[in-house]
Amino acid sequence: GSTIGILGGGQLGRMMAVSAAQLGYRCIAYAPEGDNVVNQVCDDLFVNKWNETAALAAFAAQCDVVTWEFENVPVATATAMPEGRIFPHPRALETAQDRLAEKRFVEGLGGRPAAYARVDSRSDLEAAVDRLGAPGILKTRRDGYDGKGQWRIGSDRDAQGLHLPDVPLIYEGFVEFEAEFSIILVRGQDGEIRFWDSARNTHEGGVLAASTLPAGDIIEAQVDEARELARQVADALKYVGVLTLEFFATYEGPIFNEMAPRVHNSGHWSIEGAVTSQFENHIRAVAGLPLGDTATVAKAVTMTNIIGADITASQDHLAAPDTHLHDYGKAKVREGRKMGHVTRLER
Ligand code: ATP
Ligand code: MG
Ligand code: MG
Repeated sequence: GSTIGILGGGQLGRMMAVSAAQLGYRCIAYAPEGDNVVNQVCDDLFVNKWNETAALAAFAAQCDVVTWEFENVPVATATAMPEGRIFPHPRALETAQDRLAEKRFVEGLGGRPAAYARVDSRSDLEAAVDRLGAPGILKTRRDGYDGKGQWRIGSDRDAQGLHLPDVPLIYEGFVEFEAEFSIILVRGQDGEIRFWDSARNTHEGGVLAASTLPAGDIIEAQVDEARELARQVADALKYVGVLTLEFFATYEGPIFNEMAPRVHNSGHWSIEGAVTSQFENHIRAVAGLPLGDTATVAKAVTMTNIIGADITASQDHLAAPDTHLHDYGKAKVREGRKMGHVTRLER
């Protein structure tokens, strides 16, 4: 069979590899040293720095097609893979890795992000808080995830007292949202697009805690507009694979938060809750296979993350009807660390 290469070593790659194995592919992965779990279900893991040219070439030589599970894979690493054999195209990484570039790109397609201002200095921050007001959130433009690299600014006094990190930043006005949701789509090599239903996402401390379906009226009323934007984004990037856009549902309609050029935690419910999961359809798309049906198969679905707690305790959930546990196989529990998730369906 052919070999799929995965850049990144986390649980998203692990779940991708499970789907790939089912479809008859062999998977190998490439990731820097760290808490990698993809290797538990992969044939081989190349442990190297992202910029190790020789190792990247040796990895690429074994792959028929390459994809990523981590949105901060350096663009140079992705472009070191053979042209036309890496999906999505690395241009998607370039756009999504910088919050400023991402917002400008999405605005260009008619999307509405929260009010924002570029911040490269203390005087920029003061001007931003002056213009956009407080509360707001100061974010690093790059490398943030799970709410890391973010500071809530309650007042201009907060802004004055903050020790500014020496990296490019962006200040966003605080969005008084009613709810949060994401659009998850898959786009095939022929440009066909399919959407999963949008769940209601609830966050705790900037980290996704749960995704539930049905999402409720406020979200359902805004999904069409949000999908239209997501379709524009996917088409503009000639995207192949699973793409996620996060939104705030507000009384003024859907406000774009950010995008993730990859499978997404808020789509994990699709493993049992949809005809075809986000992981299977991602593999189908990058491998050039026909896409699967994305329809939801249950009346209600709840996906709950297990964060910073011993996952074995969650095995108790399995006694409940139609309940499924996913253990990411992480050796050590750490505060805020995603250890696994539980999905419960009501048919
Ligand atoms: P992810 O793990 O989703 O990549 P991230 O670190 O990139 O997270 P964001 O999605 O920017 O972080 O923010 C995390 C959460 O913080 C959001 O889902 C939302 O709940 C809250 N948040 C972020 N920006 C704003 C905003 N401008 N107004 C209100 N809430 C916000
Ligand atoms: Mg993010
Ligand atoms: Mg987010």
